[in-house]
Amino acid sequence: MDAAEFRRRGREMVDFVADYLENIEQRPVYPDLEPGYLRSLIPTEAPLEPENYEDIIKDVERVIMPGVTHWHSPYFFAYFPAASSYPAMLADMLCGAIGCIGFSWAASPACTELETVMLDWLGKMLQLPEHFIAGTHGHGGGVIQGTASEATLMSLLAARCKAIRRVHASIPENSEADILSKLVAYTSEQAHSSVERAALIGGVMMRKVPTDNSYAVRGDMLKKIVEEDKAAGLIPFYFCATLGTTPSCAFDHITELGPLCNEENMWMHIDAAYAGSAFICPEFRPLLNGVEFADSFNFNPHKWLLVNFDCSAMWVKKRADIIGAFKMEPLYLKHENQESGRHWQIPLGRRFRSLKMWFVFRLYGLKGLQAHIRKQVDLAKEFESLVRADKRFEICAEVIMGLVCFRLKGSNELNQNLLKRITESREIHLVPCQLSGRFVLRFAICARSTESRHIQQAWRHITQLTFELLQEQWPIRIIIFYHKSYLINLINLYSVLCTDGQYYPKL
Ligand SMILES: *Cc1c(COP(=O)(O)O)cnc(C)c1O
Repeated sequence: MDAAEFRRRGREMVDFVADYLENIEQRPVYPDLEPGYLRSLIPTEAPLEPENYEDIIKDVERVIMPGVTHWHSPYFFAYFPAASSYPAMLADMLCGAIGCIGFSWAASPACTELETVMLDWLGKMLQLPEHFIAGTHGHGGGVIQGTASEATLMSLLAARCKAIRRVHASIPENSEADILSKLVAYTSEQAHSSVERAALIGGVMMRKVPTDNSYAVRGDMLKKIVEEDKAAGLIPFYFCATLGTTPSCAFDHITELGPLCNEENMWMHIDAAYAGSAFICPEFRPLLNGVEFADSFNFNPHKWLLVNFDCSAMWVKKRADIIGAFKMEPLYLKHENQESGRHWQIPLGRRFRSLKMWFVFRLYGLKGLQAHIRKQVDLAKEFESLVRADKRFEICAEVIMGLVCFRLKGSNELNQNLLKRITESREIHLVPCQLSGRFVLRFAICARSTESRHIQQAWRHITQLTFELLQEQWPIRIIIFYHKSYLINLINLYSVLCTDGQYYPKL
């Protein structure tokens, strides 16, 4: 493909993308396929001779689209949102064109510098404490990680390194291996699985802290476990708080937890992967109070701030903590201007991801971004009031942001059946969660294009499926109701037979 053809195909691709997104709600949101569907649709080996562009594009509809879960359909309400906006997609094209691997300042100064400044812009939008902002006199700063999982892992590894050094300095006869075996990390029982995984990868113990009845961790709960562990000779060193848990969007009480962590020399990391974006709105910012106690803070603009995947923003209070833990300096990477994101992450290579932030922040402005968050929260509230108005249903957790947890009053099985029908209908898509042992449906406002009419339609659909489900159960209910005494007699007879040794059934 030469530049002339690239120009033509590029324009066609932009049209293809715009058509796809404009008409996405006509597609079934969830695919109807068996696993392994794709292999039979394409050759078993890569082509020897070059193929035609047209043939490839045709295959996108034939091979790919039937197997796509359409995350940007306004009828997609599963998981949490995956951010998407046109400015971010355009910036990503430019990122591909520049195609630098920004592992050091010299490897592409704009890549390193824009990232630092964008994290400052974003940090100021969130009103983060000064010490997190690189362009001030603080010792902190921000960096883009690929995912929240990586940010959590990096914070845990940095905390581990710091704890080992601290304990070793005070009791030099303790070997690093001894110390490592006594380190213990904590997180909420409601925390994302990636937190537990970070502890597994980091080779440290992790204990789950129970939550209160709104699914949040409180200071006294953590304090109790920490005291127990210290009494048992362990070394508490890390706590990962969650602001906006994945099951129900609960908020750990960081104003209580932060001071405790500081007193105990425990690193506090905050995982606000989803909810973090909302802190750009003054009305949600109080939920971030207590961040001043944190050693590191992370959220995903690629979830709710219109910057396409991947873009996870992480700030640390002391750059030295994280750089000190992982710095490697072979000669070929040395340069007198050493500030670089590679010391903050596991891979060496880094994409020019800050371009996406720059385009999105400038084209939406803070006000446009706030409007996006507020609109989606309003849509969640709209759905919540529809659920509350129907006596067959209940709301299972306070609706604070764009997530509604609800269920049919009744058994877990009933709710599992409802979800199965919803999934099989392919008209809307949701996923469940478990709260206090109950099977709960999560309804998250996801796509940028979701409007009130989609919420109303989704609710009509859910109530229709509920009606069918309950209707089918009626015959069983009637049988049980009218034949209750008969059934009880039968059970009595059976137990009489059972107690009489002679008739004991051979099972
Ligand atoms: C989505 C989510 C994650 C995982 O995010 P990745 O960027 O995919 O690693 C972690 N924590 C919470 C609270 C989340 O909601």
